[in-house]
Amino acid sequence: MSSLKVFFFGSGDAFGSGGRLQSCVMVRTGESGLLIDCGATALSGMKRQGIDSSDIDTIVISHLHGDHFCGLPFLIKEIQVTGTRDRALTIAGPEDLEPRVEGLLNLLFPGPGDVRSGFWPDFPVISAGESLQIGDIRVSAYPAAHSPMAHPLSLRIDCKGTVIAYSGDTEWSDVLPEISRGADLFICETYEYLQAAGNHINYLTLLDHRHELDCRRIVLTHLGNTMIERCGSLEFECAQDGMVIEV
Ligand SMILES: [Zn+2]
Repeated sequence: MSSLKVFFFGSGDAFGSGGRLQSCVMVRTGESGLLIDCGATALSGMKRQGIDSSDIDTIVISHLHGDHFCGLPFLIKEIQVTGTRDRALTIAGPEDLEPRVEGLLNLLFPGPGDVRSGFWPDFPVISAGESLQIGDIRVSAYPAAHSPMAHPLSLRIDCKGTVIAYSGDTEWSDVLPEISRGADLFICETYEYLQAAGNHINYLTLLDHRHELDCRRIVLTHLGNTMIERCGSLEFECAQDGMVIEV
């Protein structure tokens, strides 16, 4: 098992609460870069930390909400415009990811020509209950309790023996102890302190279930206003934009 670095480019919700950027985390093992989710603000978060798309080999998307995948059109467009990438890019995610990204590119950067010309990533589909081997990384997908039309997944990612669990967006469910069992790091969304909107984990519910979690480290992310105002006074560690940790 080798140690790896985890970069939190975006630790906020969809709405810029607290001025935070949207969901985007990078795991770096040696020379390889894995991006977990790619919110609309991903490129800004990456470049603030001296990272750009040339550092990324693989991207895994948890679900099809804009704050988790709408950075992809900008990232792909940048690669097409610069024309300097000399290797493939794999973007694994739920069904419909590829056509939605293609549709967004057509909307955001209309013609002339085919948006797929020049450079186009590979888009393997991953569904709940499946695992996918991408190079040295094994991604296992589980059903998340979130908006069904976004095809939500929770993920367990094995990077050469170091295991990172990622809740994606979800209400609390029995999947979360399962994906985080024995993990080196569990990145867990906690949008709210008290349950208000539903569809997300709230902090008090997480506290109620903490005895079910068996992992080395938990970092809370996808923080809304009611969480941001309490960061630093909670029993769990909160992510910050720009935070880098070693696991
Ligand atoms: Zn979200």
